[in-house]
Order: sequence, then structure tokens, then C-alpha cells
Amino acid sequence: MKIRYLYQGGKKRCLTMSYDDCPPEDIRLVELFNKYHIKGTFHLISNKLRDTYCITPEQVKTVYAGHEVSCHSLTHPFFDQIPKEELMYEMLEDKRNLEAMCGYPVRGMSYPNGIITEDVLTCLKACGFVYARTAASSENFKLPQDFMQWTGTCHHSHDIISKIEQFRSSYYAANASPLFYIWGHSFEFPRNTENNSWAMIEEFCDKFTATFEDSVWYATNIEIYDYITAQRSLSFSVDRTMVYNGAAISVWLDVDGQPVEVKPGVKHLV
Ligand SMILES: [Zn+2]
Repeated sequence: MKIRYLYQGGKKRCLTMSYDDCPPEDIRLVELFNKYHIKGTFHLISNKLRDTYCITPEQVKTVYAGHEVSCHSLTHPFFDQIPKEELMYEMLEDKRNLEAMCGYPVRGMSYPNGIITEDVLTCLKACGFVYARTAASSENFKLPQDFMQWTGTCHHSHDIISKIEQFRSSYYAANASPLFYIWGHSFEFPRNTENNSWAMIEEFCDKFTATFEDSVWYATNIEIYDYITAQRSLSFSVDRTMVYNGAAISVWLDVDGQPVEVKPGVKHLV
């Protein structure tokens, strides 16, 4: 018997979008994602929400409905230039503010200015964050081993339209469960350069969804974290005919070429 992991719903591929800084262009970006049923995570700076060039606190719940609201710190400081007590305040207050606006526990974040140190990691874990996105690009389609240092595939200006074909046919993509993780800032699209424009991101959404249709799981960052954590926590019998899923959500396996849903509890695979 051959077993391999699948994504939610038995899908073999996953796409997620991750956008920072809560500029007003997020409204247009969310509308675009909604048109194509693509899911995104939006990392907000809660103190900035009172600025004129920004989404307002009153808009947060409706603008980002159906997507994920995530933290990006209270004021976007350089994390290696402030005391750890200040860092804790920056993150806990941001989490508190955003939770009051969106109505659910906010568990993820992205690093402001991309700065990660040992102290930063310790503080974030103590504040209850379960994943944190870096400002680097892996240029691959692999899942992170450590979700607290989650590096996405690439920034949206890295020729993402040509990467659609790699995501379809590269050796890794064809033989594993690839994740295409794109990040950026929606305020960049009005720059209107070749690889950074509204036309480019719309073309990407159009081509991507036309290429893969419903064979891709379109997910937010936290949905991927929850799903992969459940998947990695599965316990199999020695002969792999039985599996225990201790999580609260279903996990899907490919068993000898067939998708199998493993609901919470024990599942007999033969
Ligand atoms: Zn930022």
C-alpha cells in the first residue's frame, strides 16, 4: 500500500496570497481575488488604520470577509531596534485590536521590515502566534518545516505568470504537493511596471484558475497552517492500514492512487 499526503478536499496543489500594510488598494485586490475564488491573508498594522491612506477600522470586517486578517505589528518598527518588552506590546496590542475588529482569534503575522532574531521568535511564540511570514522568496513550491519562519515562493513582481507552468509541470510540482505562495503589497500595483501592475495580477489570476480550475485548494495562510499541522500529527499503525487523526478537521490521503478523507478519530484504510 502506497500512501502520500493530499491537501484539503483531496487536492494536489495549493495557492495562497499574502499582502501587507493595509493600503486602500486592498479593496480592489480582494474584489479581484473574490472574482476568481482565490483566498488571501492580509497582514494589518492596526495603529495605521486611522491614517487617511489606509483601510479604516470600520471597514476591516467587511473588506476582508472570506479572507484572513493577520498581524503586522502595531506601528511597523524595526524589531531589532526596540526592547523585547516593546516588541511584546507591539504584537499583543496589534493582535488585540485586530481581534476586536474581525471577531476571531488572530494567530498569524508577517515580519515588519522582514527582521527576525532569536528574541523576536521567542516573543512571538509567547504571544500565541503560530506562523510568521518572512520578507524573503524561496523561489520554490515547498511547504515550510518551521511555520514561524515561513518564506513564500516569491514576491508578486517575480514573473509569477511564467511560474504557472513550473507549478504545473516541474518535477517537484508533478510528484509532490506543491504550494504556490505569493506575497506583496497592493499599493505597488499602481506603479504599472511590466511585472507589477493591476493588469499583471489580473492576468495571473485568470491564467492560474483557467489552468488548474478546481484541482487547486485556494486557502488562507492560517488554513494551510492548521491543515498541515493536522497532517503532520497523523499517527499510523506499523502496517499503515490504520491511521489516527487527533485534530478537529479532516485530512486527505492518497492511498494507492485514490483520495481518502480521514475524519477526526481512527480510520481503517483497508
Ligand atoms: Zn510592512
